[in-house]
Amino acid sequence: MSTSTRKSKTAPDDFVAMLETSEADTKQIFADAAKAAERLRKTTLATRLEAVKKLVDHITRNKEEIIDVITRETRKSRSDALISELLGVLDNCEWLLHNAKKILADKKVSTPITLLGKKSRIYHEPLGTVLVIAPWNYPFHIGLTSILAAYVCGNAVVFKPSEITPMQGLFEKLFNVDPLLEQSVFIAYGTGVTAQRLIDQHPAKIFFTGSARTGKKILAQAADKLIPVDLELGGKDQAIIFDDVNIQRAAKGVLWGALTNAGQSCSSVERIYVQDGIYDQFVQTLQTEIRKLVVNAGDTGNADMGGMTVDFQLDIVRKQVDDARAKGARILTGGDLLCDNELFYMPTLLTHVDDSMLVMQQETFGPLLPVLRFSSEDEVIQLSNATEFGLSASVWSKDAARAERVARQLECGAVSINNVMLTEGNPGLPFGGTKASGYGRQKGAEGLLGYTRSKSVLIDGDSAKIEPNWYPYTQQKYNLFSQLIDALFTASPWRLLKAALIGMKLEAEAKKER
Ligand code: NAD
Repeated sequence: MSTSTRKSKTAPDDFVAMLETSEADTKQIFADAAKAAERLRKTTLATRLEAVKKLVDHITRNKEEIIDVITRETRKSRSDALISELLGVLDNCEWLLHNAKKILADKKVSTPITLLGKKSRIYHEPLGTVLVIAPWNYPFHIGLTSILAAYVCGNAVVFKPSEITPMQGLFEKLFNVDPLLEQSVFIAYGTGVTAQRLIDQHPAKIFFTGSARTGKKILAQAADKLIPVDLELGGKDQAIIFDDVNIQRAAKGVLWGALTNAGQSCSSVERIYVQDGIYDQFVQTLQTEIRKLVVNAGDTGNADMGGMTVDFQLDIVRKQVDDARAKGARILTGGDLLCDNELFYMPTLLTHVDDSMLVMQQETFGPLLPVLRFSSEDEVIQLSNATEFGLSASVWSKDAARAERVARQLECGAVSINNVMLTEGNPGLPFGGTKASGYGRQKGAEGLLGYTRSKSVLIDGDSAKIEPNWYPYTQQKYNLFSQLIDALFTASPWRLLKAALIGMKLEAEAKKER
């Protein structure tokens, strides 16, 4: 594995520039990765999955040490790191171990009558060297999910972690558990400058998770080289609470969905729509529950919420709260830092919010809970979809038919019904967005196949047969093909029989020399 020097979050600019992965190093990384990809092509899936088994064992045995690194770099609570980062990765590994073989196996595809006697197959082949560019909010989970899916499919991987959470040394240690894995994954540290240099090396595909702003830049750079890109971008996810719910349970669920990872999740709840009949009681319950939360630095697993990871994200949160307050929103809890504790922002419940406020227009990525009222199903669907984003949502109602009816009409990539952020808990379900939340999918069969290229293969037996559609074209063949089309595409119980008879005549015709 090749690694380059890391950048410090607090380093001055000239220092940062020195510590980017240099152009020469990015070239070398891609040259080495090309050799690794060649090597990987000769390995079996079973061999590659061995590395995943060893990783499961290593991560399980070194949980606390890994959590130490993650929490130090992100400030997230230890429980958030344990549940959303480690458990998420381990679940995903298990899923790969149990499902990759079936999904990546050659597929038999039925062959139409016009190609009688031949066999059709799809091979799922590796792409070559793929580039994974990751964000800082789930540096362990997002990085490893992409890297392992790519590797299991037989790709060499160049990984560019976020400069905010490089966790230097952690992944290197993990990948050391298996020599093939260690030789197949290359880590390049640095900022967007390094990422741009890596894209210049023409990876076979780019898997990007991060902001829409950066996603657009990547697309523009990739366009010139026609590099395919999967984009996992931001969200403005909504929870829709109908008035027949168990209020206590729904409030607790929404609270977790909004505040897990201090709200720094692409799919955290950022808009809470509550139906008129229970609005006051729901807000009251949220307020009561928020007051019970423990926000803490340096916890041992007992804190509900950790801190924010970066100051620029905190600035966005503060700006949205100030803007909402100035435009008439009421701040029922929070609205400020916890005891001037750097980057620990209090869970903040906002009511009387409207669409003119930044908190309703932009992604927040912080611990804010804006609550809005709605009256009817149609109204809440319209409000829900009136955003440029479309990542995920939750719908809460005892009426299962209504919940599903609403779920189908939401413009987003995932919906949890009577729960929150739960689709992500099943590695068998694809994860990804629509609209400004991106495209492409991670996880599930669809996600795994995104790391492969389909090769279609049609196998003809080694016969002496000359195909009727080969030259020479003759008037007689033209007439027979025309009859074949009529026979095949005109509804009749005898269509296949008629087609077979015409096919025999065509084959006889094909044997004639001009
Ligand atoms: P970001 O876009 O600032 O950075 C993401 C990565 O892109 C980093 O590694 C960064 O170094 C790199 N980068 C920066 N400029 C680049 C350039 N010009 N070319 C190529 N790469 C470049 O995002 P962030 O602040 O790290 O992450 C937060 C964002 O990520 C939020 O919008 C969040 O919603 C989104 N996110 C989405 C998902 C998802 O699955 N949909 C998951 C997590 C986070």
